[in-house]
Amino acid sequence: MGTIDLHLHTTASDGTETPENTVRLASKLGLRAIAVTDHDTCAGVRDAQSAGREYGVEVLAGVEFSTDYLGRHAHLLGYLIDPDCPALEPALNWAVTERDERNEKIVGLLRRDGFEISIEELKRENPDAVLGRPHIARWLLGKGYVRSVQEAFDTMLAEGMPYYLPKGRIPMQRAVSLILQAGGVPVLAHPLQYGYGEEELQNFLNAAVTWGVRGFEAVYSEHSPEQESFLRAEAARRGLLITGGSDWHGSGKPAIRMGEGMRGLNAEYSMVEALRAARQSAE
Ligand code: AMP
Ligand code: FE
Ligand code: FE
Ligand code: ZN
Repeated sequence: MGTIDLHLHTTASDGTETPENTVRLASKLGLRAIAVTDHDTCAGVRDAQSAGREYGVEVLAGVEFSTDYLGRHAHLLGYLIDPDCPALEPALNWAVTERDERNEKIVGLLRRDGFEISIEELKRENPDAVLGRPHIARWLLGKGYVRSVQEAFDTMLAEGMPYYLPKGRIPMQRAVSLILQAGGVPVLAHPLQYGYGEEELQNFLNAAVTWGVRGFEAVYSEHSPEQESFLRAEAARRGLLITGGSDWHGSGKPAIRMGEGMRGLNAEYSMVEALRAARQSAE
């Protein structure tokens, strides 16, 4: 197992463990450094960093923006950002509003079909979270309507399913520039998870670099060894850094283990050093 994990979700977004518990587990696992990369929020970063000082784990500030690239999803990681940077605030607040409006509509569809779910109950069960589909999926699991969170997505909440509704996403270029304004290092999250063909993928990677992306997440739970090597090479020939993380969500995604992913994670401490160097060179 590696010694770092740079892609973790806490209860601030759709993970199941608080920032503090996340750090405690990282310390128990012997991880040297982690990054908290909640979806469209930095709300867990400060708590995780103070826990990090207590437990002796280096905690990098992070965020994972849900962005739009030519009408498709693209996740963008921002490392070493200033979590209190005012430049981020409007975009983060907008993302919460978009999710809230969509949650209400999804809950409305479910209620129409006889599910007695309510936003109030979701808020009660997830007091500090930016609510989204995973919380609805967990409610369905808790009530016994599905056997797993995955089944809730596959049969009800994923794109193309009856309770899916789209939400607004900020353009990728804008998210890159916000991360740079917040003093962070923009990195493309899991670049092979968006379903691009060979040529489209190259266009996507090139556009990201043109806009200021400094690295690719080459090491990832769902990457095969070939996919990891491919992304390491794509980053190297562009002079970019690479990062690695599991995308752990606690028990929300039980197949993924912190620091290990699904079958071991080759995330090295040098990735943290590369991020720090990239940040310095931007100053
Ligand atoms: P939302 O922000 O409400 O659109 O929810 C997105 C989150 O749901 C992602 O960050 C994942 O954690 C999870 N998710 C999205 N699609 C799936 C899927 N097909 N299966 C399992 N989890 C998913
Ligand atoms: Fe998630
Ligand atoms: Fe992601
Ligand atoms: Zn993630």
